Amino acid sequence: MVADCTTVWNDCLEIVKESVGEENFNTWFKPIVPLRVEGDVLTIQVPSQFFYEWLEDNYVNVLKKAVHKAIGPDGRLEYSVIVDSGNTQNPPVTVNYPNGINGKRANGNNSDYSPFTFRALNPQTINSRLNPSYSFDNFVEGDCNRLARSAGVAVAKKPGVTSFNPLMLYGGVGVGKTHLVQAIGNEIKANMPEKIVLYVDQNDFTTQFLNALQNHKLQEFQNFYLQVDLLILDDVQFLAGREKTQEMFFHIFNQLHQSGKQVIMTSDCPPRDMKGFQERLLSRFKWGLTADLQEPDFETKLAIIHRKMQADGIAIPTEVAEYLAYSVDTNLRDMEGVLNSLIFHATLLKKEIDLDLAKEVLKNIIREIQSDVSVDFIQKIVSEYFKVDLEAMKGKMKKREIVIPRQVAMYFCKRYTQLTLALIGENFGGRDHSTVIHALESVEDMMKTDSNFKVSVEELGKKLKMRMN
Ligand code: ADP
Ligand code: MG
Repeated sequence: MVADCTTVWNDCLEIVKESVGEENFNTWFKPIVPLRVEGDVLTIQVPSQFFYEWLEDNYVNVLKKAVHKAIGPDGRLEYSVIVDSGNTQNPPVTVNYPNGINGKRANGNNSDYSPFTFRALNPQTINSRLNPSYSFDNFVEGDCNRLARSAGVAVAKKPGVTSFNPLMLYGGVGVGKTHLVQAIGNEIKANMPEKIVLYVDQNDFTTQFLNALQNHKLQEFQNFYLQVDLLILDDVQFLAGREKTQEMFFHIFNQLHQSGKQVIMTSDCPPRDMKGFQERLLSRFKWGLTADLQEPDFETKLAIIHRKMQADGIAIPTEVAEYLAYSVDTNLRDMEGVLNSLIFHATLLKKEIDLDLAKEVLKNIIREIQSDVSVDFIQKIVSEYFKVDLEAMKGKMKKREIVIPRQVAMYFCKRYTQLTLALIGENFGGRDHSTVIHALESVEDMMKTDSNFKVSVEELGKKLKMRMN
């Protein structure tokens, strides 16, 4: 009997479809590629060892029936298993196994092979490792996170269905990556209780993987992850240099992605800058949407402060909130620490939250996180950067090319020194604190509207930080 393999395989699929649900069909049968028919043997290519084992363990009878109907009573199936999907230089490596139609499953050449016992995860009882206090509601939207947030909302509405798969969020410390991805997880869990949601940070993942490796439980490990509908892997940058863990993640990722499951990752930098990763993995990271979260601007910080205090039922005067939004400029985790301390003072010590209390708290917490740097130093670096005369910058001249560097220098004095607004004003030709506030606001505004200016300020910030350490 001579027939082309695609036709034979399509006949098989017709029969398989009758006994397998649509979702399983898409997951386990769609990815299969028919390779050839020789005599009574149909060879199909499957994406991995795990895939092959799964088919054999769960669908052996269905396949048997299908092949018998399509080829005849002597029909047999052979698997070509991709054990390494290769790259541009190297073709994929495959191993062939007969299927169990005429006997027990072959063990292949893997002496460590241990049959896994399938533990079905239950969406109701699974510990998703989500922190229920992270939601979209308490995630403040700002220019700094708008794209990432919208993408998150879209994914939460239709996990696995949008083109945002994988969704890769990146940004520095404390910009809200973990909050946002957990909000997505919580939302999906609440609205789609049938979905299996799992949040893991890289540490959980790596530890579990190493355990599985030592105990020859890799199949169970994969098997566990392949049941998940939404996989969130936080801080993926820490997988750098971990070849084996990456390899495993690569397989899990591919199979989840192939079967329309949603993958979300976070990282401290965009995929193009990630070091110590296999190229093929990085290219996968870019398949969906990559969105960054930036350090929050003044307004967003202000809103975050109000939101957090409100949630704790504590009133915070506007001037205190503004003072904090300006003063805590390391990251939002430090802000969280400051706010918690304020809440502690207000509730347990029954102190009123005012500027004095805020300053006291800040002094205790922020001292360690703000490096000391002198106004002179900032003025010098800024004037050099903008190529303006140092004395003119410190003086009263109102020319625009002097005013802007002056405002930028004030901005950095606020960020990197402990000085009050009034004292900063003193250092710039005896200006008063409202002029300094105006300068800070102008810089913030210009950063929003003028991307070149923003880049300059960020560059300067880096220069200053570098010299501070
Ligand atoms: P990352 O994972 O990027 O390091 P986190 O998600 O842990 O940052 O955020 C640090 C803290 O700041 C958390 O307490 C988080 O709730 C809070 N936070 C960050 N961004 C926002 C935001 N946009 N709205 C409200 N809270 C935020
Ligand atoms: Mg985080």
